Amino acid sequence: MDAFYFDGKSSRRQPVRLTAGNDGLLVAGETVTRAVATADIRASEPQGRAPRTLRFADDGGFCEVEQGAELDALLAALGLRDSAVVRLQSRWRWVFGALVVTAAVLFAAYRWGLPWGAKVVAPHVPIATMNVISEQALQQLDGFIFQPSALPEARRRKLTDAFHALAAEEPELAPYGDHLTLVFRAAPKLGPNAFALPGGQVVLLDELVEMPGIDDDEILAVLMHELGHLAQRHGIRQLIQSSVVGAFSAAWFGDISAAAAAVSTAMLSSGYSRDMEREADAYAAATFRRKGLSPAPLADALEKLEAFYDAKNRRPDREGKDGDFLDWLSSHPDTAERVQRLRAAN
Ligand SMILES: [Zn+2]
Repeated sequence: MDAFYFDGKSSRRQPVRLTAGNDGLLVAGETVTRAVATADIRASEPQGRAPRTLRFADDGGFCEVEQGAELDALLAALGLRDSAVVRLQSRWRWVFGALVVTAAVLFAAYRWGLPWGAKVVAPHVPIATMNVISEQALQQLDGFIFQPSALPEARRRKLTDAFHALAAEEPELAPYGDHLTLVFRAAPKLGPNAFALPGGQVVLLDELVEMPGIDDDEILAVLMHELGHLAQRHGIRQLIQSSVVGAFSAAWFGDISAAAAAVSTAMLSSGYSRDMEREADAYAAATFRRKGLSPAPLADALEKLEAFYDAKNRRPDREGKDGDFLDWLSSHPDTAERVQRLRAAN
């Protein structure tokens, strides 16, 4: 077949004719005639439609050849096809290894790097901005699952006063200022629940206030747990994490609208990690103790909520999934452990 020959010393190229011989390749041109042993030939990997090079290990000369059936036949005649397959296999091994390493790095970045980064950044996120976003989330929830609270005004006032008394003089809650509010709603479809929006709104559902067997100390303990999520900026951290994931997938897949959707979905459904639940419990327990109160009502409330959802068989099948902003709705497979921890600290 036709090819171009380079002697490896000058850039001069000359047309040559390649022929497979008994012991190797015959290169014949105007000023070059040589035989190269098969063992000394290194064929480049095919890349697109670019010409391939056959390098001659003995003196650094090489040929450029067009890809195609003619070259395949030549390589086959030289017995070079096998080695090409072997090289290809070893290349796939490298590709696979690189994929595994890349996946491991990405996983580590997602699993540890991202939460760490979010924790570092969260204290610097302006609460006022988060409050605006949370207000929009609340309006969305009002549109599809919430109803106005039916609690009497006096009852709401009493709970609101107690809520602010809990939050008073807590340095970690001070940045929320006036944005820290107790919001009353009803949601028959959700059942007993309370949750904190990242901007400082703690939503308390009528169904929790009116849950049979629950008393005010237990309701306030649940609210203290929610304040724990706020004090440690769990919602903001979750939002940062899902935004980064959304931005990355947008960059990766080139879809901005998916990233935007990820942010709003995260507001409502992204989970608090179990570590965050434990932190919120620990915060509530420590704060109660500092105020000379017992954290036992939180353990009691946890057990009662668990029993309620078990009895109603209304716990969504979410074993193994972390909780979410609708904090007490989700099944907490580790409720027993959390209760035990709270009682031990008592
Ligand atoms: Zn929680």
